[in-house]
Amino acid sequence: MISYASVVLPLPLKTEFIYYFDNDKFDLKVGMRAVVPFGSTKKNAYVVRIFNEKPDLDFEIKEIIRVIDKDVIFTEEQYNLSLWMEKFYLSARGENLDTMVPGGKKDIDYGGLNSSSYESKNIINLTDEQIRAVETIIHSEKNLFYLYGITGSGKTEVFLRVAENVINNGGQVIYLVPEITLTYQLAQQVSARFKNKVAVLHSGLTPSQRIKMWREIITGKASLIIGARSAVFAPCKNLKLIILDEEHENSYKSSNTPRYHARQIAQKRISDTNGKLLMGSATPSLEAWYRMNYIKDMVELELTKRPALAQLPKIIVSDLNNEKGGGFSTLFGNDLIIEMNKVLLEGRQVILFLNRRGYSRYFYCSSCGYVAKCPHCDIGLVYHKSKKILECHHCGYKTIPKISCPNCHSYDVSYMGFGTEQVDAELERLFPNFKHARLDTDTVAKDKKYIEKILTDFKNNQIQILLGTQMVAKGLNFPNVKLVGIILADSTLYVPDFRASERTFQLLVQVSGRSGRADSDGEVIIQTLSPENNAIKMASKLDVKGFIEDELKFRKATNFPPFSRMIYLVFRSKNKMKAEKASSDFYNELINVKTHYGITAEIFNPSSCTIEKIRDNFRYQILIKSSDIRQGIKIVDIATEHVSISSSVFLEIDIDPLDVL
Ligand code: ADP
Ligand code: ZN
Ligand code: ZN
Repeated sequence: MISYASVVLPLPLKTEFIYYFDNDKFDLKVGMRAVVPFGSTKKNAYVVRIFNEKPDLDFEIKEIIRVIDKDVIFTEEQYNLSLWMEKFYLSARGENLDTMVPGGKKDIDYGGLNSSSYESKNIINLTDEQIRAVETIIHSEKNLFYLYGITGSGKTEVFLRVAENVINNGGQVIYLVPEITLTYQLAQQVSARFKNKVAVLHSGLTPSQRIKMWREIITGKASLIIGARSAVFAPCKNLKLIILDEEHENSYKSSNTPRYHARQIAQKRISDTNGKLLMGSATPSLEAWYRMNYIKDMVELELTKRPALAQLPKIIVSDLNNEKGGGFSTLFGNDLIIEMNKVLLEGRQVILFLNRRGYSRYFYCSSCGYVAKCPHCDIGLVYHKSKKILECHHCGYKTIPKISCPNCHSYDVSYMGFGTEQVDAELERLFPNFKHARLDTDTVAKDKKYIEKILTDFKNNQIQILLGTQMVAKGLNFPNVKLVGIILADSTLYVPDFRASERTFQLLVQVSGRSGRADSDGEVIIQTLSPENNAIKMASKLDVKGFIEDELKFRKATNFPPFSRMIYLVFRSKNKMKAEKASSDFYNELINVKTHYGITAEIFNPSSCTIEKIRDNFRYQILIKSSDIRQGIKIVDIATEHVSISSSVFLEIDIDPLDVL
């Protein structure tokens, strides 16, 4: 018998398509994928409805080519979520489903997880604060909870107890962490406790492993699902709890279409399934803080102490301006060298943090001021010494360093600024008797098992100094670490973005929190050229409340989030004039729509982006601020229907953007 299937295609089209198939030939169900003809190509389609009566269409209906899945691979809830995302993020349902379902867009491959290395854990006696938090969450009728606890205060244990309770009552739990390194750490921690109920979704899985995990979740066999951002889409049938650890982390926001935020998706899913969302951090985002303390629509729980002997570290701000040579070229100031030597000789460990990779940041000519820039991007090239190349960190362009200035042919050229590769080389020179390792995207890319190996070696004291970028900043828990050194706190500060200060503060507090996790003698040295900067000063006092309240005043005065919601539109094209024209046409339409519908929103004049060019694409921006995000979305949605943008211009729509660069 002939049946019909309504399908969604992984394309930026906010519509569905109908195909026919023979029931006797295919066992096709809603929630499976099928290959269909589309124009002159074939596409993987998501089947969202099946029916028997012939639809009344004035064009020929085509036949499904084949069925991909043996079983259902996405749920009705996920399909509905894709429709909701279409309204909220203005990304098409097919793009949304494609992001949720494995086999669609693939993440970067970081390597797998070795399940044999899992260790069991003794049962911990909770502190009074932990007990109060667990009890409140379990017994509350509310849906939104925030565990605001200083670094090392034992948030994980609270999360796990609440998860245990939910799972014992037959519910499923999604536990989100911001970083791949933390997926490993957490998987090890929970495997003994939750045994075969755990599913770990991470980018190192092969497509077939991923599908296998997916099945365990969709059939309800797995009840604790661990993963980074995209695990928020796990196809749970009975989702009752989502844990979002390190809520403030930017990695929860996708930088590709659909530009979703895991926090937003989590909130939506939880409200549909009447479950609970439990977020936690030592450094809440300003948005979360504002909701907790001013809107008060989340239950706030606090952990103010580190359990047992552990205490917050002593923090020293080391002013690099006092170093010989002015400080700009200082990697290790005196304070840091002396302290590192002391700590290492005691047999304790050191974590060093620098937010920039590569050897040197700029190739610079002292005669004419020339700086080597990427020919495809409006950004400086970074020197990688071991690879002997200048590289663009935006597009990957590589070139061989010159010995003279390409502009004025002077030989008075040099490199300025430093990255982790140079710090690595300095470690070799300054601390030859201690083993060190570097974790950044350069070293990790070399070998898939690298992260896990380094973290295991560090845990077993086979490495004494761990140097890294963001990868070492978040959530890691190594009891023997006594000293944390921040090589240059200023590196994130002078980015032209209204969140630069907030980010620097969070990063400093988080990195500092990696020390003193089992003892009372933890130390942090923050090296900086701007010791008077508020974010650095407040971070050195670990004054979260003080910093956030100061920053809120600034945001209020300038009407930035959380006091407004933003939409960021970027028009990009290889043709500069077309990009510029598209932005000004769109702007005019936005103003028309705004006036016509009487919407209150602040629409900024189009201008070129801070980074004017990326991968040969010229970029123009429009920023919209509104107190009610739905109003802002409405203007953009209507305007996109009215304006036809040149096919050589691409429009990126970012709702609640984290970067406006
Ligand atoms: P956070 O996530 O808040 O930074 P963790 O959850 O990683 O902190 O906990 C820090 C350390 O404290 C871990 O080693 C953990 O095992 C330990 N810990 C947690 N709760 C307790 C407790 N009640 N008693 C003793 N140690 C605890
Ligand atoms: Zn020159
Ligand atoms: Zn480039």
